[in-house]
Amino acid sequence: MISHVLPTYNRAPIAFERGEGAWAIATDGTRYLDLGAGIAVNVLGHAHPELVAALTEQAGKIWHVSNLYQIPQQERLADLLVEKTFADTVFFTNSGTEAAELAIKMVRRYWSDAGQPERIEILTFEGAFHGRSTGAIAAAGSEKMTGGFGPLMPGFRALPWGDIAALEAAIGPDTAAVMLEPVQGEGGIRPLSDDDLRRIRALCDQTGALLVLDEVQCGMGRTGRLFAHEYAGIAPDIMMVAKGIGGGFPLGAVLATEKAAKPMVAGTHGSTYGGNPLACAVGAKVMEIVADDAFLAEVNRKAALLRQKLEGLVASHPQVFDSVRGQGLMLGLKCKVAPADLVAAGYRQQILTVPAADDTLRLLPPLNISDEDIAEAVSRLEKAAESLDA
Ligand SMILES: *Cc1c(COP(=O)(O)O)cnc(C)c1O
Repeated sequence: MISHVLPTYNRAPIAFERGEGAWAIATDGTRYLDLGAGIAVNVLGHAHPELVAALTEQAGKIWHVSNLYQIPQQERLADLLVEKTFADTVFFTNSGTEAAELAIKMVRRYWSDAGQPERIEILTFEGAFHGRSTGAIAAAGSEKMTGGFGPLMPGFRALPWGDIAALEAAIGPDTAAVMLEPVQGEGGIRPLSDDDLRRIRALCDQTGALLVLDEVQCGMGRTGRLFAHEYAGIAPDIMMVAKGIGGGFPLGAVLATEKAAKPMVAGTHGSTYGGNPLACAVGAKVMEIVADDAFLAEVNRKAALLRQKLEGLVASHPQVFDSVRGQGLMLGLKCKVAPADLVAAGYRQQILTVPAADDTLRLLPPLNISDEDIAEAVSRLEKAAESLDA
């Protein structure tokens, strides 16, 4: 008989009752060191006092009103995002998937408004992940996500991952946009080089194609800059953000330049919940803490510490690990064993990690993880690897 919860997940037999910083405490009292952070969501760990205060304070006033009215909390968060990024304007969603949907709609509307409604092709890279809506699975294109859900929304072409020559050959006057993650998350923590990102930006400029960056996973300080594309010194036309932006509260956003967003006039898009006072009060507090040079400098210092320890781990377990990759606190261990086996071995050492494609184990700790917890995490990973050593 089917479970009452639709069984689309293979869940571990662990339930968590509460959390403290980088630790998640299960119903049986077992303390797990959380290097998954709910898949890059809990950027400030569990039960961060300032986030709890922001949430409870707003919860005692008003939760939800509708976008039929002015929402000062939403305006404040938009102000913060515009101040700290390339963007001129922001639309708030509840998830990364919804952000991807709006990004795709914005691209279509842009070309329709420009008198080229037939210009719909969006170029993507294989291994991409943009969510689970019909549009987002069509964009990703993989059989694993699209199987049985056809016919797919037209207008996407996936190129081999990181193949700039293929992009150069494919892009042209019919290309509506290029859409990609600067660091692929689900695809296996695969960063594009700064040079490649600059090349992609230049190709978009030459053809007029819009550059859409999906920073749902790699954004919000995860790579050590507020947004990953900043390393390359480029800016997108449209960007999707979610996961970390709410610190655990469901929240997403599409950031855009005025030029890209101009045709999105009143009535062209909407959301019941998107950007409600409760979500935006929490989101503004996350931004206040994360979009700060001193905070990001600490992320980089911790990232260097974790990475150095992981290089040692890989060197001492060559039968289990191949290499370390990623940027900042978005790190991947390329494995020679099945990543799912390592995740399971991790549970036995009370550490939470996340598998990804391309034989990669993802480490996505809270950005404020302590040095002691970093050392503890690597020692637990060491024990997990030992248990798998042939
Ligand atoms: C998780 C993710 C999404 C989808 O976000 P949801 O909040 O699950 O809808 C989109 N893009 C990337 C890069 C992601 O990692």
